[in-house]
Amino acid sequence: MTTSTSAVVAGSRPFDARASATLSQLRAGGQFKVLRELDSPMDAVVKMRADGGGELRDVLCFCSNNYLGLANHPEVVEAGLKALKDYGAGTASVRFICGSFSPHAVLERAIAGYMGTESSYSFVSAWTANEAVFPTLCEAGDIIISDELNHACIIDGIRLATVIKKGLHKAVYRNNVLEGERSLRAALEAARANKDVTGQVWVVTDGVFSMEGSIADLPGMRALCDEFGAMLVVDDSHGHGVMGTLGRGTHEHWGMVDGGSHPGRVDLFTGTLGKALGGGAGGFVAGSRDAVEMLIQRGRPTLFSNALPVTIAASATKAIEIVLREPQRVARLRENVAYARQRLKAGGFDVLASPTAICPIIVHDTAKAIAMSQRLLELGVFVIGFGYPVVPEGHARLRCQISAAHTHEHIDALVDALKKL
Ligand SMILES: *Cc1c(COP(=O)(O)O)cnc(C)c1O
Repeated sequence: MTTSTSAVVAGSRPFDARASATLSQLRAGGQFKVLRELDSPMDAVVKMRADGGGELRDVLCFCSNNYLGLANHPEVVEAGLKALKDYGAGTASVRFICGSFSPHAVLERAIAGYMGTESSYSFVSAWTANEAVFPTLCEAGDIIISDELNHACIIDGIRLATVIKKGLHKAVYRNNVLEGERSLRAALEAARANKDVTGQVWVVTDGVFSMEGSIADLPGMRALCDEFGAMLVVDDSHGHGVMGTLGRGTHEHWGMVDGGSHPGRVDLFTGTLGKALGGGAGGFVAGSRDAVEMLIQRGRPTLFSNALPVTIAASATKAIEIVLREPQRVARLRENVAYARQRLKAGGFDVLASPTAICPIIVHDTAKAIAMSQRLLELGVFVIGFGYPVVPEGHARLRCQISAAHTHEHIDALVDALKKL
């Protein structure tokens, strides 16, 4: 037996071989994603370059989370520019060392006011917010009970928490199923019977399920949480700006804010500023003063990572101000959503009846979803096909997302293009 003394050469290292194999497999299977290049602001109509360079052309955009059309609103843009001029790019530090700028405090007050909570704290993304919440607030002896369709960042936040906090338990229940087999109640009862669960029970859900366009039964969940002494955490990234009269979120839809008809409250929210509320980036946590203070004192993403850029803090504050000043935008979105669902249904497509702005059309196969999305683009309509690993294999879909910026003519054009497929 001889021992090789030659160094491993680039191209034959384990990573190179497996990356190349995976990418070839994706290309061969029609599952390879191409990032489109836009050359205009996000809006109902965007300028897009055809694959591999080429001419810019106008396409109708039905895949953005720009639900209220605020991503390129002149006041939102101006607020960001002004903050950049007034404060420069940033503090070049984390907040506990160099502090934060006034626009951060203004934003966090605006978010708490909008959500109806005592306090709030901003993050560079909702992903980071969820990665901060679970590892910081949950402890050994607690259990986190999570909906099976929760967003990837909730899943990863919980995974991280159980690695950092040994003895922290987790459980999963069937999507929005509160009673019966593999339900939330069943998980809560199992937790109660488990002698190792000695601390807090946490229940976490998306407000709006991003791949289904369905909503969580928050009043039912609140009642169960009260019965079992559990905390209710809601990530409403697709609900903010969309659900309820003022677009505060799924809790407003269910009458669970101050003055609402339902007495129950959500204990803690996570959410994004990178969708309806400006669309740049950014996330937040909103809840009790103590929960927010714990994140400031102990959260690793808050202690070791820089603040949300001040430009975005100012733009997002302006976005919230505009929604509160012009609730007709939310009403317009709701009207567009109803119109789109009615037109899609009349066109023979199977769409879920729901007040959310997400209308998935199930086509099952990932390669088919990607091919259909490509064909739609040729017809001038930008809709993305989602397949594995974003949704389970066999559940691929075209996800159409409606905005207040769309006109009925835009929606008619979407339905006509879908019919041509
Ligand atoms: C989009 C989304 C996120 C990610 O938001 P970012 O701010 O872009 O990180 C997190 N959670 C849910 C439920 C989402 O829909």
